[in-house]
Amino acid sequence: MPERERRWSGWGFEGERFPVPEAARSFLTERLGAGDPLPAVPEGEVKLPPSRPLPPLPLPAATDDGSRLRSACGSSLPDLVALRTGTVAAYPDAVCAPDTPDQVVELLRAAAAGGVTVVPRGGGTSVVGGVTVRPGGAPTVVLSLERLRGVISVDAASHLARVRAGTFGPELEAALAPHGLRLGHEPQSFEFSSVGGWVATRSAGQRSTGVGKIDDLVAGLEVATEAGLWRLAAQPASAAGPELRRLLIGSEGRFGVITEATLRLRPLPEREDGLAVLLPGWAAGVEVCRALLQSGVPVETMRLADPEETRFGMTLAALSPLAARAGRVLFGLRRYRNGCLLLLGWAGDTQGMTLTEQIAARLWRAAGGFALGRAGWRRWRADRFRHPYLRDELLAAGWGVDTLETAAPWSGLEAVYVRVREALARAAAALGMRVVVGCHLSHAYRDGASLYFTFFWPLARGREIAQWGALKSAATEALLGAGGTLSHHHGVGTIHAPYLEREVGRTGVAALAALARELDPHGVLNPGVLLSRTPDPGPRTPGGREG
Ligand SMILES: Cc1cc2nc3c(=O)[nH]c(=O)nc-3n(C[C@H](O)[C@H](O)[C@H](O)COP(=O)(O)OP(=O)(O)OC[C@H]3O[C@@H](n4cnc5c(N)ncnc54)[C@H](O)[C@@H]3O)c2cc1C
Repeated sequence: MPERERRWSGWGFEGERFPVPEAARSFLTERLGAGDPLPAVPEGEVKLPPSRPLPPLPLPAATDDGSRLRSACGSSLPDLVALRTGTVAAYPDAVCAPDTPDQVVELLRAAAAGGVTVVPRGGGTSVVGGVTVRPGGAPTVVLSLERLRGVISVDAASHLARVRAGTFGPELEAALAPHGLRLGHEPQSFEFSSVGGWVATRSAGQRSTGVGKIDDLVAGLEVATEAGLWRLAAQPASAAGPELRRLLIGSEGRFGVITEATLRLRPLPEREDGLAVLLPGWAAGVEVCRALLQSGVPVETMRLADPEETRFGMTLAALSPLAARAGRVLFGLRRYRNGCLLLLGWAGDTQGMTLTEQIAARLWRAAGGFALGRAGWRRWRADRFRHPYLRDELLAAGWGVDTLETAAPWSGLEAVYVRVREALARAAAALGMRVVVGCHLSHAYRDGASLYFTFFWPLARGREIAQWGALKSAATEALLGAGGTLSHHHGVGTIHAPYLEREVGRTGVAALAALARELDPHGVLNPGVLLSRTPDPGPRTPGGREG
């Protein structure tokens, strides 16, 4: 089957859409007023500067405008605005797609010798500037992982699979299913993000409450560095010094190019299902989530939307029409005026699932919850990978939308929730505009949970990035000030890099920089990503210590 073409200036496949429903349009117009529409320029109108000369490279390098345009940006709000308006600040000079891990090593060595910057690129779905080519630096080559794809081998007895880094989610799960196994890592970007990207950014999937983050799913790694291929074989556990795999997870391309991961799998479930429940308020909902997690009940997906996100979700008909009607009736009741939608999903055998469901029901009933039914859950499951298409439609209609995420211990969650919302409202008011902020709790742990905020504002033409920047920095300051982590799963990239020291300290940044210097001595890989200051480069001589 021919590969479907991806949109160059927005999310997903050409031809796919999630039009803004009338109810959502009215909701945003009423709450925010109309903004300035941001139409996307046609591809033909984007004029690229010519590629800069490159030193000899060991593999073919694409320098055509289409390849360079499609590899210039990721999926952050500034990236989208730049693409839609044809104002991309910098393009790569070439795109190379190695066929083997050894070719990746050769490319890194040639880049080191020739003073070239290399940007590793999986699916290009980074929302933190991780793959955005930056102006003013050395000639830049995007190293696309698109040809390093597929499952190499499955160890069915150990529930392990060796997988090439460029493999996307659907291809991976399709290859594992005939073995009766799955990874179960399903970020919302599942269809367009890669194994290497997940590992490089410490990603979390929508089932992470049950299956864990990618951090927990990596048993072994192979990483290409200028010195050669560095293999850390899969081990169930080890005490052979500090855990080096963990140092590479989240390294965002600064310590080398991940070429392969050995992943921990689990059997395909006999069944899976879930439930949508309406709870009377946010605090009650958070308590249900905490109690569920701490009871040890194996919930795979848990997602509690606050009142604002619940109301906006209803306008998107995220529930079945029947459940949406029931929801509207319930919202009319005083008890559910600030109703919060809780989605619970479980997978496994029938007996285990029945027990899980019974324990969960005891908790949400005691908190005054009302079951909206399985159809609501199934509707969300069916639509969840379509929601990102809405972002482009909202920009075209005049509303900016972005998301940010954090995590904190249960005891500190409320402070983060309150302070981020207040900070966004204050920053919007300072710009003379309003903002709608929704939040959901997901990716929960025994000791805490992630909060994921979505905020909308009316776009002002020509000031989109300034508006976004003011909102984003206010929210980031607020979440750090309230004790949240800089990022639960989007990573650091260039957008969060200036804040990293606030979380890990000066020593932490220095240790990471030292490691980057050791593994990437010529500072070839992703300058500015993860660490905002580039470590001093060593002498510019070709590398080659190990191999
Ligand atoms: C609509 C949308 C929904 C999203 N939903 C989620 C979600 O649910 N959960 C979540 O965790 N994230 C989510 N993200 C963020 C993003 O999808 C993740 O960060 C993902 O892990 C990136 O994978 P990728 O293959 O697209 O990586 P890329 O965007 O290509 O790269 C990300 C970073 O990793 C580096 N990198 C990529 N591949 C390699 C490699 N092989 N070796 C070394 N470095 C590499 C890049 O240089 C870059 O710095 C979402 C993004 C969007 C736009």
